[in-house]
Amino acid sequence: MKILVVNAGSSSLKYQLFDMETETVLAKGLCERIGIDGALTHKRSGKPDYKCTDALPDHKAAIELVLKTLIDKELGVIKSVDEISAVGHRFAHGGEKLRASAVLGADEIAYLESIVELNPLHGPPAISGFKACKEVMPSINHVGVFDTSYYSDMEEKAYIYPIPYELYEQYRIRRYGFHGTSHRYVAGKAAELLGNKNAKIITCHLGNGSSITATVNGKAIDTSMGFTPQDGVPMGTRSGAIDPTVVTYIQKAKGISAEEADTILNKQSGLLGVSGISSDCRDVATAAEGGNKRAKLALDILVHNAKKIVGSYVAEMNGVDALVFTAGIGENDRELRAEICRDMSWLGIEMDEKANATCPRGEIADVTANGGKTKVFVIPTNEEYMIALDTLNLTK
Ligand code: AMP
Repeated sequence: MKILVVNAGSSSLKYQLFDMETETVLAKGLCERIGIDGALTHKRSGKPDYKCTDALPDHKAAIELVLKTLIDKELGVIKSVDEISAVGHRFAHGGEKLRASAVLGADEIAYLESIVELNPLHGPPAISGFKACKEVMPSINHVGVFDTSYYSDMEEKAYIYPIPYELYEQYRIRRYGFHGTSHRYVAGKAAELLGNKNAKIITCHLGNGSSITATVNGKAIDTSMGFTPQDGVPMGTRSGAIDPTVVTYIQKAKGISAEEADTILNKQSGLLGVSGISSDCRDVATAAEGGNKRAKLALDILVHNAKKIVGSYVAEMNGVDALVFTAGIGENDRELRAEICRDMSWLGIEMDEKANATCPRGEIADVTANGGKTKVFVIPTNEEYMIALDTLNLTK
């Protein structure tokens, strides 16, 4: 079966076409500048990238161009669109009702439309991406895979905030958790490596957005992102967890609106805010190596907070069998991985710094120190594969 995975943003649409028999990606690419002018980059393994700048007024035009390219005699990888058995769509938010991946019908879409206020940035473009694909491929199933659904089984004590309960009842303010598809994928791989599906696993998805999740028996029991992806570890431009009163204090002190305070905490904080240099970890690390104190401080704060969250999850689970690093920073920044694992031997976490420094990029690596009680793994994430697999399982 061939499964098309689609991730629609406000002006972009990413796609990957999987052959699930061979578990390979036949082609992938990105439509950008949708609604502005339009640009497509189409990639197939072993062949040069194809780029074009056909006009892309909306998501429908984008998916039509993707399908045209996928079946093109020279650029394509399939003969006909009919070879695509189903489409998997990434949604950041499934609210409280979409607790697992699901075939998308009228009820599911009506529910997703009813929760766009919880998810104003990602919700509307994901829904319009789905509608465009459904219009162009009406006779096959379309499946929604939700980043939040991995957290559906968390206990109330992990997701209800200690604020007036009516705010939860009235506005659904609670911890939802995000990046669930990535955490589910890497925690599943770690359980496979351990040969123990009941394992206690902490997964650190550290990228431009970062989150840490605790998994027991294949289910997430806690996670660092909350009502929005703003909570938890400091990120590229997001502050992560701070004293909530800072928000109202900034508003009053600077005489700014809630939206402006939100922009400061979401777009001007984290690595960028502290270093004053960049939201990109590589730039910050280069500046720190060159002696820039604020760049070093930004990285120290990231490490400090990641350690605190890891430690709290060891306490919650009464132990940990594996600690996993994934995403742009987690997979590539050996220095940061080493810093997070440093001085955690009391918790059973010890890293083989040589294995960590030499582990190959893009591959699973075991970087546990000899005799380390907790396995430390680097596992490249693959959210698209997880979406394709859920789509296959729900539609075959
Ligand atoms: P992501 O959001 O998962 O794409 O991750 C983006 C983050 O990963 C950025 O902060 C990058 O600086 C960081 N990153 C990507 N590649 C590397 C690398 N080779 N070394 C260190 N950090 C990296």
